[in-house]
Amino acid sequence: MIARTHDLAAITALSIAILLVSAHPITLSTLIFAIIANLVGGIVPDIDQPTAPFWRNLPIGNVFGKVFSKMTGGHRFITHSILGVLIIGYLFFVLLNFISPIIGSVDVNVVWWAFMIGILSHLIMDTFNKEGVPWLLPIPIKIGFLPIKALRIETDSWVENWVIFPGLVIFNCCLYLINYQYILHLLRTMVV
Ligand SMILES: [Zn+2]
Repeated sequence: MIARTHDLAAITALSIAILLVSAHPITLSTLIFAIIANLVGGIVPDIDQPTAPFWRNLPIGNVFGKVFSKMTGGHRFITHSILGVLIIGYLFFVLLNFISPIIGSVDVNVVWWAFMIGILSHLIMDTFNKEGVPWLLPIPIKIGFLPIKALRIETDSWVENWVIFPGLVIFNCCLYLINYQYILHLLRTMVV
């Protein structure tokens, strides 16, 4: 999947999580940090790809991207496994705790969960890709859905761009319309 599909999937997963878990009131800054962390989490497994947006936006990023890609075993390897998710999650946890004194009223637990939801949504979406995902590394098996490879989705294909992406947009619209009153309630009880 391409970055925008991953980000939309990450936001979708975060929205579902917010609606399912009866959240305690959070601050506006926590919400903003959580959304950013969720979007970053949604694309972070693809830092194993030299052409990833993260590397493209850095000066000489493609050089670092190539080195990092080699270190992590190439595209869709360690960063696309449960082991990789745990490692990245731990590193992000350390980073959040390090910067927590300067981000004041931000609830770092909520931000961490939003990030993890983003990463997991990435792996789930890539499972629908032709190549599948090595969820169980170091067991070197790529798991994909549907079981027949020919029925899976190719990255940046018309199915992704004209079925999956618009499908997610419509799903989100329905989700927000159906839960409109509850979302208003959540926003009204938000601590500024
Ligand atoms: Zn990926």
